[in-house]
Amino acid sequence: MTALLQVAGLSKAFGGVRAVDGVGFSLAPGEMLALIGPNGAGKSTTFNMVGGQLAPDSGSVRLAGQEIADLPPRAVWRLGVGRTFQIAETFASLSVVENVQMALLSADRRIFRFWRPAAAHRLPDALALLERVGMRAQAARPCSELAYGDVKRVELAMALAHAPRLLLMDEPTAGMAPAERLALMALTREIARERRMGVLFTEHSMDVVFGQADRVLVLVRGQLLAEGTPEAIQQDARVQAAYLGS
Ligand code: ADP
Ligand code: MG
Repeated sequence: MTALLQVAGLSKAFGGVRAVDGVGFSLAPGEMLALIGPNGAGKSTTFNMVGGQLAPDSGSVRLAGQEIADLPPRAVWRLGVGRTFQIAETFASLSVVENVQMALLSADRRIFRFWRPAAAHRLPDALALLERVGMRAQAARPCSELAYGDVKRVELAMALAHAPRLLLMDEPTAGMAPAERLALMALTREIARERRMGVLFTEHSMDVVFGQADRVLVLVRGQLLAEGTPEAIQQDARVQAAYLGS
């Protein structure tokens, strides 16, 4: 079976720092894969190489068998790799539903100056996405008025607008309260299952990692220290010594 994502021998150095050093892993459709590790371990650098924002020094990144390591971000996105960012990005002056309409138009490559008439055609799809993330009732509100956790849900709906096969989430719950973190990632997990969408995410809250990931990768100083189920990782003595600190 071809993996959705197959990463092998991925490396990137900045000056003398080996930020990512020979990392390899695979991700199946519908799988929630957590990448954890201390600050500076190389998590974001790995994300940036998978998403096309950064070219690796060496190694390969295959999406459903196709090599994407040297493609620019836009091309990687078109092939079905979506991403959310640590700071949620929405247009604050637009309403919730307009933000999702814009994302749908962008997925259709139909963003242009006079976008509103085209956006009207995508209203039902935008509302359906908002329904799925629990934001239908707030569709007409300006994004600027939303609580931060709700902005994150809108951002998830926007990421889903182009129906990604793989969603990259680098610290998606940064700045959120613990209960909201769990809720956002539990929702993401349900959607991943429904759509057979793979999710690669980083997360500092171990409650979220061990509760919502199917599998966990532990990165330390650019190298994979361990890989396994949440149960196995929690009990791994090397992981505890190097990272969990207990
Ligand atoms: P993490 O996301 O796990 O905290 P990063 O991938 O951001 O780690 O960083 C890994 C290492 O690479 C760190 O030592 C960091 O300082 C370094 N680094 C990351 N990006 C750059 C860059 N653009 N220029 C120089 N060094 C960088
Ligand atoms: Mg990071």
